[in-house]
Amino acid sequence: MEDYLKSDCKNCFALCCVALPYAKSADFPFDKDDGEPCRNLCSNNQCSIHNKLRSEGFRGCVSYECFGAGQHVSQVIFEGQDWRDNPEQSKIMFTVFPLVQQLYEMLWYISQALSLKETISLHPDLQLVYENTLAFTKKTPDEIINLDIASHRSIVNDLLLKTSELFRKDFIHNGTNSKKGKDCIGARLKGTHLQGRNFRGLLLIAADLRNADLRKVDFIGADLRDADISGADLTDCLFLTQSQVNSTKGNVHTRLPSYLIKPKHWLN
Ligand code: SF4
Repeated sequence: MEDYLKSDCKNCFALCCVALPYAKSADFPFDKDDGEPCRNLCSNNQCSIHNKLRSEGFRGCVSYECFGAGQHVSQVIFEGQDWRDNPEQSKIMFTVFPLVQQLYEMLWYISQALSLKETISLHPDLQLVYENTLAFTKKTPDEIINLDIASHRSIVNDLLLKTSELFRKDFIHNGTNSKKGKDCIGARLKGTHLQGRNFRGLLLIAADLRNADLRKVDFIGADLRDADISGADLTDCLFLTQSQVNSTKGNVHTRLPSYLIKPKHWLN
């Protein structure tokens, strides 16, 4: 994965901690409006509770991922001008950030699709849409605000669906392996063989996936909060992000794709 598709908080003005709203829930202990700095944000753009986010009730922060949009908006689009020093710019910066985050998220998925040998027939189309998406991130703030991101996402989504089908084709049987739209909250799937399943957008909150075989599973958009993947095998799975992994329970025996790391809370 390209380095610019990884978040680099040191070069970001903590945009996710200011620009985005959150609501009191299982993921956040209080409400915050968009554009309002989080009360835990320090003047040096560091989080005062960074090492205890989960225990303090900020699970939403642990499972958030900007895919590199934060440093791009901070250092490239706004040329290193902190919102604190440029309050007249802050509103447009906070509007642009979530839009660029969506574009970077698309780049991350397309990049993974391009890395697969199974999708070689799609590579010209994937490459073209990657370049178009990248070009959008280089536009001016006003141009970004006026982009039709929903239409572009639809084009990207179509290619990611084709990617998934090609990648999992040895495991697709009459469409019965798609659980799209079904609710698997708290599902008991311990030790099951789920290789090549389509978990696209699936709610797997608090599911028991201990020791499950999850190789070649498509995890795009799956909600894995508090799912237990201790001892599960997720090598060679598709579209699994670090933020999804951060929201799970796991242990030293969980096998992840090489581009992901085991969260610290798994080891405590
Ligand atoms: S709790 Fe920390 S990481 Fe979460 S929004 Fe606030 S400052 Fe940012």
